[in-house]
Formats: sequence, C-alpha cells, structure tokens
Amino acid sequence: MNPLDLPLPYPVVVEDDISGSLSFFLSRQIYSQLFVLCDENTQRYCYPLLQEALPPHTLLCVPAGEEHKNLDTCREIWAQLTTHAADRSALLLNLGGGVLCDMGGFCAATYKRGIRFVHCPTTLLSQLDASIGGKVGIDFMDLKNHIGVFQNPIAVFIGSIFLNTLPQKEIIAGFAEHIKHLLIADADEWHKQLQANSLKATPDVIARSLGIKSAIVAADPHEKGLRKALNFGHTIGHAIESYCLQSHSPLLHGEAVALGIKAEAYISLQRQYITPQEYQQLATFIDTHYPKVLFSSKDIKAITQLCTQDKKNEGGKILCTLLGKIGHALVNEEVSGEEIEEAIQQVAINQI
Ligand code: NAD
Ligand code: ZN
Repeated sequence: MNPLDLPLPYPVVVEDDISGSLSFFLSRQIYSQLFVLCDENTQRYCYPLLQEALPPHTLLCVPAGEEHKNLDTCREIWAQLTTHAADRSALLLNLGGGVLCDMGGFCAATYKRGIRFVHCPTTLLSQLDASIGGKVGIDFMDLKNHIGVFQNPIAVFIGSIFLNTLPQKEIIAGFAEHIKHLLIADADEWHKQLQANSLKATPDVIARSLGIKSAIVAADPHEKGLRKALNFGHTIGHAIESYCLQSHSPLLHGEAVALGIKAEAYISLQRQYITPQEYQQLATFIDTHYPKVLFSSKDIKAITQLCTQDKKNEGGKILCTLLGKIGHALVNEEVSGEEIEEAIQQVAINQI
C-alpha cells in the first residue's frame, strides 16, 4: 500500500488494481462488521473485481442514479444497517460513483452519531473530485446536496481498473474536472494536456488532480474562501446543467462544466486576464472533446437568469471564479448579466 503524499488526514491510494492495498488496509483495522455499499451497476461491474480480496462482509445494494440520492434511500441503508445489528464500530465501504459515495458517507456519518467509512470511487468524476474534500450529503426537495455534513472517510482507494466498464461519455464528462484543476493551478500540465490532446484517465492523471484539489481543500477545509477556486466553470456550468435538465435534454455534470469553463474563460479573456491565443487553445480543446449545444436567445436569457440565482452569490451580485491567468484562479469576481449572456453565446452553436 503506497498512499499519495497529500495534505489530507487520511490515506489516498491510487493504483490500477487496488484490491491488494485495500485488503492490506482492512486487515489492519479493528471493526465489528464490514459493510460494502454498492448500487446495482457497481455491484455488477466493480464488486466482482474486489470480492475475493475483501474480508468477510455484508453486501448492501441500492438503486443507481441521482434520482435515488435522497432520504428514502438513506432510510433503506440505515434500516439495513440496523437489521444487521451494525454497532458504532462497524465500517462502511462505499463502492460507487459520486452519488453512492456522497450518500453512503452521509448515512455513515449520521448512523448512531457516526461510523467510519472508506470511499472506493468508481467513476472518473468521483475519483477526481467527489472522493476527497469531506463533503457528504443527499438531495432534498429538488435541491442538490441540500442536506449533508462535512465528514472525512478514514481512507480512499481509487482503482483506474474500474473505469474500464464506465461508459466513454462518463469518462469525457469526468475529465472536465481535471481540466478545471489544471487551469486553476498547473499551467505546465495544462500545456502538456493541450499537446497530448486526448482524455486518458491514468493513475498519474488522477493523482495530479487529487494533488491540486487536496492542496486547496487543506487550505480551506470548510469552504470559507480559497476553495471557491474549485468553482471555476461551475457558475455558468451549473446554470447550463439545470436549464438543460428542465428542458428535458439533460447534460452530464461534466459536459455542462466543460461549457462553463469555456464561457468563464471567455469572461477572463474579455477582462484581459488571459490572452486571445490562450482562450482559443482552450476553446478548441473543449470544442474537440465535448458535445456542442444549441441555445436560442431565449435559452441564453433563461440560463443567465439561473446564474443570478446561484446559491454562491452574495448581496444580489453574480460572483464568479475566473482565471487570473492560466494556472491561477481569481475568486469572487463580480460579473454582470450582460457579460454572462455574451459568454454563453460563445458556447452555443446555431442560435435561433
Ligand atoms: P453516479 O454515482 O450516478 O455514477 C454514474 C453512473 O455510473 C451510475 O449509473 C453508476 O451506477 C454508474 N457506475 C459507477 N461506476 C461504474 C463503473 N465503474 N462501471 C460502470 N458503471 C458505473 O455519478 P457521478 O458522476 O460519479 O457523481 C455525481 C454525483 O457526485 C453528484 O450527485 C454530485 O453532487 C456528486 N459530487 C460530489 C462532490 C463532493 O465533493 N462530495 C463533488 C463532485 C460531485
Ligand atoms: Zn463539478
């Protein structure tokens, strides 16, 4: 077992096949019972890759998908733990994507005032992003991640082998978070990425992203300020994601974030924080790898309106994270509705 050197209070292991390291780690833990939480897809595709390496355990399975990241599913998980007489020294292993890790972590953090949990993220998005940072929670009354707590896992085990069964669309979407990490914190790696011009999620790529995210999280564990750097691409990205969902043509989170990155980079260009050449390289990269969207002027106005309702705004102003330069984020930049509208025009094609 060879954890990454990260400024986090728990080990994070990234390998192709994590079964040996995970089994070693579990053999050193003292717990009353081990529970493995899967959704129906990870039970089918990921659990068989670990099953033999795991010590005796009870398998729990919940339905897959964001629509199940809610209190009903939590009730099911808490009920299954109770039926199996889980006590406070039980250990929960979350084997799944961001939905499962967020919800499993939340159920563990609240069951009998908190039992320990390990994350074993199986989508690229969860490996690059959701697995570290200590945020766990569920959706409530149509509000994403509305109920939750900050609680760290005792360890994170990331196996790139799991990505072999993940649909390519999910890989491309997850990669948007890596692009974001490079743009806000690592100009050299961003330039290498531009040259490579491919979206390969190797253990090195995952480790690089986790290095960037963990440094930011460590400096601001409870999201007081600095951590807003991680919102780059997300003010406009979230608005596009919500709008497309409402109009019944949903995009994956990462697909919307890729468009948000392009749009927010455009505002950075307008403010001369980045050069036209830097913007063009970034825009071409996103255009090459991510789906194009078609927005009418009415759509663009509606998306802009959603940006003004972003929960991260303060005092009625639209606050956005921009690029101060490539490899550096500027948080709390006040932007106008007009700037947002113009930026969204840059990511839309064939407006009507
Ligand atoms: P997800 O967990 O729904 O996974 C996507 C789909 O892939 C699901 O159908 C899942 O069953 C399936 N799947 C998972 N692993 C697979 C594998 N290896 N092979 C085949 N299929 C597999 O979605 P996600 O994109 O991983 O995560 C999105 C969630 O993450 C959102 O709810 C978001 O709020 C949350 N999130 C949390 C944080 C955080 O800091 N806690 C950060 C970013 C996102
Ligand atoms: Zn994101």
